[in-house]
Amino acid sequence: MKLTLRLCALACVLTTILAAQAAEPRATRSQNVVLFLVDGLRWQEVFTGADETLMTKDNGVENVDALKKKYWRDTPEQRRSALMPFFWSTIAHDGVVYGDQNKGSMVHVSNEYRISYPGYSEMTVGFADPRIASNEHKPNPSVSVFEWLSQKPEYKGRVAAFGSWNALPFIFNRERSGLFIDAGNEPVQDDPPSPAQELLNRIKRDVPPRYDAPTFYACLEYVKAHKPRALFFASGETDECAHEGRYDEYLNAAARADRFIKTLWELLQSLPEYKDKTTLIVDCDHGRGTGPEWKSHGKKFAGAENVWVAVMGPDTPNLGERSDTEPLILAQVAATVAASLGEDYCTAVPEAAQPLPDAVRTPAK
Ligand SMILES: [Zn+2]
Repeated sequence: MKLTLRLCALACVLTTILAAQAAEPRATRSQNVVLFLVDGLRWQEVFTGADETLMTKDNGVENVDALKKKYWRDTPEQRRSALMPFFWSTIAHDGVVYGDQNKGSMVHVSNEYRISYPGYSEMTVGFADPRIASNEHKPNPSVSVFEWLSQKPEYKGRVAAFGSWNALPFIFNRERSGLFIDAGNEPVQDDPPSPAQELLNRIKRDVPPRYDAPTFYACLEYVKAHKPRALFFASGETDECAHEGRYDEYLNAAARADRFIKTLWELLQSLPEYKDKTTLIVDCDHGRGTGPEWKSHGKKFAGAENVWVAVMGPDTPNLGERSDTEPLILAQVAATVAASLGEDYCTAVPEAAQPLPDAVRTPAK
């Protein structure tokens, strides 16, 4: 073959390769991600449902019989389905769940504090940052995976965080990150707000702090209007009710969080931007004490380091509840958020923990 012909053939091959690369589908089918946090909900309730020893007057339960009717069943599987029906019928069925210690699946926080800000930071930044040692409202010096995503052109202006806890603007360092954050009772800054958003803003002004519902419905309005590609939502009533020593309201808050997740998921599946191309991750920021110490958490409480994580999406295998896995840490959630979008967080942030094993499977290249 003459040189010119060879060159021509080479150019042809190169063009074919380049065209193939341009046409290559995304590494993941998922193009959006939601991280939904249920503050301080113990793995014990998630995997075994209501605890009979805590359904007592001593643990703040107003009507023991009524509570048992609602949540007590003969087996742990029935009890957990009574408490969190969407989690067990859909997320665990179609996705993967980590953290059932009775089955040898352990997930724990790698920060030593076992409280909220260090937990929120660990799961979104990807490592336990020793500078975050309390719930004090100080700007997070570390960059979260959400801020990292928002710096990429394809996610710019498409990342948002919602939560009823007014620490959120500090955890995500709103001043530096410029993320859209709606926290606590502050009104949603939407211009112009929809009529529903306007009413929700009025309700937010007039309810006590840390009520989840107005923030949750404001989040739904925002999703409909702006279609964020990466969304963080933190519900807080589970932790609030536990600190108040109300086991009945703690269970009700867990059931409510499950309903919120279902409502959000159903909204996403009804919108073409999200349908079958969205990954949902559900987790908590810390555990709580065991037995009579269930109300509290922190460094001194054994068991408060234990957490759980669930993942569901188009690239997540339906392995269900994991058993006998290697010990996992909450910090792995950050890279999992990125991996669900086909993004490699650990190369950019080498101190970040690896994505959760089997949470996102990308097709072989
Ligand atoms: Zn707490």
